[in-house]
Amino acid sequence: AKEGGSRQHRRYSADLDDRAGEAARLGVEMRTGMDTGQFRMVYQPIVALPEGRTRYVESLVRWQHPERGFVSPAEFVPVAEQNGLIVELGEWILRTACAQFVVWRDQHGVHAPQRISVNVSARQLNEPGFAAVVAEVLECSGMPADHLIVEVTETAVFGGGTAVQAVKDLSALGVRIALDDFGTGHSSLGLLQTVPVDVLKVDKSFVDNLTMAGRHAVIATALIQVSNGLGLTAVAEGVETAEQAAELHRLGYQYAQGFHFGKPAAEPDFHGSAVAVV
Ligand code: C2E
Ligand code: CA
Ligand code: CA
Ligand code: CA
Repeated sequence: AKEGGSRQHRRYSADLDDRAGEAARLGVEMRTGMDTGQFRMVYQPIVALPEGRTRYVESLVRWQHPERGFVSPAEFVPVAEQNGLIVELGEWILRTACAQFVVWRDQHGVHAPQRISVNVSARQLNEPGFAAVVAEVLECSGMPADHLIVEVTETAVFGGGTAVQAVKDLSALGVRIALDDFGTGHSSLGLLQTVPVDVLKVDKSFVDNLTMAGRHAVIATALIQVSNGLGLTAVAEGVETAEQAAELHRLGYQYAQGFHFGKPAAEPDFHGSAVAVV
């Protein structure tokens, strides 16, 4: 048993070495990728129910690597969090999204999305002067503060550090605050008492199986009640079917996002793509 244990231990540390090595390689390649324009932004519609018109968009980063091909942000964002590159990448993301919003507003007028949301990671939020960077980006891009939504997660805000103050500073600028993946953390409701919040992004896990009788619908109903009671905007995430959209509408949800309404794209169709709930 002892020998088996140490073999297992060796295999485990080899795995760790592999993983550390892979993260280090990815980090080096990210640096090159940032310097050579391998990153780009896509935008996913957030629609109003029941008519399905695009009201907001969420910005999502993409990395097209010359050899690896498409690398998922679920893979490289955590690495960038670790090595700190997310601070520079995140500022580029913010600048790109705000500039895009202003271009769309000028091109599409009333059909343009009313707000754009940008994901901000824990590391960014805890970076001294983050709110000042946001203020500068808004100023340079001509983006009105109250049309920007910053999406933060519970872990980012409760991770200690200055994140709570940063969220308060952003809110004071007029920027809207969204709690991402809402309901999946340990203290989602507690967070509502700690930071100023405007938007609850109700996690996909509550939308999945919504149309089967059971606890998912009960929780989705409780969350919309909390949201309405506090005067917040609830957005249901990860809506993949017409049935889910109809059920969310029935429960009182006014905003939804998911592949059913539109996948993330460089240029979403704001004019003719409405998917109405019937
Ligand atoms: P998230 O912020 O929760 O973003 C939602 C994710 O769900 C996106 O994946 C989106 O493409 C995906 N999604 C949207 N609708 C559906 C649906 O109907 N079904 C399914 N199965 N998935 C759906 P993506 O773009 O791969 O991003 C994954 C995560 O990576 C994001 O989760 C976020 O945590 C992070 N991320 C993405 N872009 C950024 C960024 O610009 N900055 C930061 N800091 N993190 C980002
Ligand atoms: Ca998000
Ligand atoms: Ca989310
Ligand atoms: Ca997520």
